[in-house]
Amino acid sequence: MDLDAIYHWGVLSELAIAIIAFPLLFLITIPYGGRHTSERWGPSLPSRVAWFLMEIPAPAFCIWGYAQGGNSGEPASLVLLAAFLVHYVHRAIVYPLRMRSTEKRTPALSTCVALLVNILNGTINGLALAHAGRYGAAWLEDPRFWLGATIFLGGAVVNHQSDAILRNLRKPGEMGYRIPTGGLYRWVSSPNYFGEIVQWGGWAIATASGAGLAFFLLTIANLAPRARSNQQWYRATFADYPAERRALNSGVW
Ligand code: NDP
Repeated sequence: MDLDAIYHWGVLSELAIAIIAFPLLFLITIPYGGRHTSERWGPSLPSRVAWFLMEIPAPAFCIWGYAQGGNSGEPASLVLLAAFLVHYVHRAIVYPLRMRSTEKRTPALSTCVALLVNILNGTINGLALAHAGRYGAAWLEDPRFWLGATIFLGGAVVNHQSDAILRNLRKPGEMGYRIPTGGLYRWVSSPNYFGEIVQWGGWAIATASGAGLAFFLLTIANLAPRARSNQQWYRATFADYPAERRALNSGVW
């Protein structure tokens, strides 16, 4: 198997998807979750099942890519692999199990698209760690590793805190929506997305890899348009929605 070709074309494909998705997703809001969902998108799955199916390929294919590489087992690569796997095991298993509304559904079509993208993303990031790059003991002392790891952890804290605030707006079994308050919701409507983008920005720095950069740009392409959709939805749904609250970033947008 030509791992160089898989990595090279995989990174280029993910960059191309990000470039195409960014303008497209300002026109089409992908209907996963409850708020933006629509029956026009065909058959659907329970959202908890959809989250598992969408996200589990990322850690699975990351492990596969990592195992293919000749540089696997190096100390910094193991730390980075662990960070990727912890994030995705949480997202695929813990996050859906903790969702309060069990009735929500997600279209099978958007689940399939996300699943395929996660196969690509997991594969190239696993290969980045153990084939395309070298992350030995020296990388643990490299400023890029420390800066990136700090940004990654900061983004993860914001993402988790913001998701927890949303989760606690509902009692178990409740389906409705309220205006979130506290944390970074004071300034922005989707701080969970802001945290996620910061997190993968940190990953791109900590890995200094093409795969990391492609993933960071894809996350922006996916979540920036969705943050705008959420903002528009909040303003249309709640007459008393705080007017000063921005979509994603209090300083820029
Ligand atoms: P949302 O903010 O749309 O929703 C998160 C959860 O909170 C859902 O269960 C939603 O319910 C509920 N919720 C949202 N707003 C309210 C409200 N006002 N009142 C009550 N409940 C509310 O996030 P996403 O579902 O889009 O994403 C979930 C996580 O996955 C985020 O952390 C995000 O960063 C991450 N993600 C990462 C991506 C990436 O590219 N790396 C891509 C997509 C998501 P309901 O489903 O019923 O609307």
